[in-house]
Amino acid sequence: MFEISYLKAKSLSDAAALIGAHPEAKLLAGGMTLIPTLKQRLARPSHLVDIGGLPELSGIELKAGRLAIGAAAKHYEVAASAVVKKAIPALAYLASRIGDPQVRNRGTLGGSVANNDPAADYPSAVLALNATIVTTKREIAAEDFLQGMFATALEEGEIIVRVLFNVPKRAAYEKFPHPASGYAMAGVFVAETAAGVRVAVTGAAPGVFRWNDAETVLTKNMKPAALDGLAVDPNDMNEDIHATRAYRANLVKVMAKRAVQKLLATK
Ligand SMILES: Cc1cc2nc3c(=O)[nH]c(=O)nc-3n(C[C@H](O)[C@H](O)[C@H](O)COP(=O)(O)OP(=O)(O)OC[C@H]3O[C@@H](n4cnc5c(N)ncnc54)[C@H](O)[C@@H]3O)c2cc1C
Repeated sequence: MFEISYLKAKSLSDAAALIGAHPEAKLLAGGMTLIPTLKQRLARPSHLVDIGGLPELSGIELKAGRLAIGAAAKHYEVAASAVVKKAIPALAYLASRIGDPQVRNRGTLGGSVANNDPAADYPSAVLALNATIVTTKREIAAEDFLQGMFATALEEGEIIVRVLFNVPKRAAYEKFPHPASGYAMAGVFVAETAAGVRVAVTGAAPGVFRWNDAETVLTKNMKPAALDGLAVDPNDMNEDIHATRAYRANLVKVMAKRAVQKLLATK
């Protein structure tokens, strides 16, 4: 046993003040990652600052061509949102494939993005859609925010308020889930935007990454066959009891082709 003080934030400014006052505190959103981490004694915060249900962190709306989703939006809310389904159906689909119903009813967008698990789904959409992370201190571009395995640009006491996703012309997400957890063994988000195609890969490597070669060929020819001559380098992939590097490299290509096929079928 170890002692933790639980603090329920009354507002976003209250949460910022509480987290600022206690340097060893941690924010608690859905608790889907944090609570298991505490149970395994991998973290020992002095306080938990609960930001669940804060109105400043909720809401899903389309604003000036960007989809703004509050950090406290649960995965099931994103999956079920008519606004998300209309603006970026691939994002609603991605949220619907996270974990299981329990995880989707507790886990939040902000918690997932802050955690930046290398096998999490949302980071691929954040990167492929060139999203902006709005925090209590600043706005951060996806590429600057996501810094590899469990690493982000977040500073001490900085809270994600919302994520602004650029609405693409078309997009699609496909993942090969781990059969037990649902986490991506390889997940590929393909976005066709006015500035070209962006392809982001999660689950396969130590961190989410853009597959630049795929972007180049798909910008010229949006067809699954355009990827035939390409491969990600197996040496850059993860290897564990679930899959070898070569297997994961192949999965990336297969998921990318399926995503392109799906994108072509969307209006
Ligand atoms: C069984 C299981 C299966 C899962 N399967 C998948 C899956 O298939 N795909 C997938 O992507 N994920 C999966 N997850 C993870 C899940 O999506 C979690 O929602 C997510 O990792 C964390 O979100 P949370 O709201 O629970 O955050 P918490 O666990 O409460 O917090 C996680 C971390 O983020 C910080 N944090 C939370 N909110 C903010 C904020 N607004 N600003 C700054 N920091 C913040 C916390 O301090 C903590 O460090 C799974 C989890 C479990 C337990």
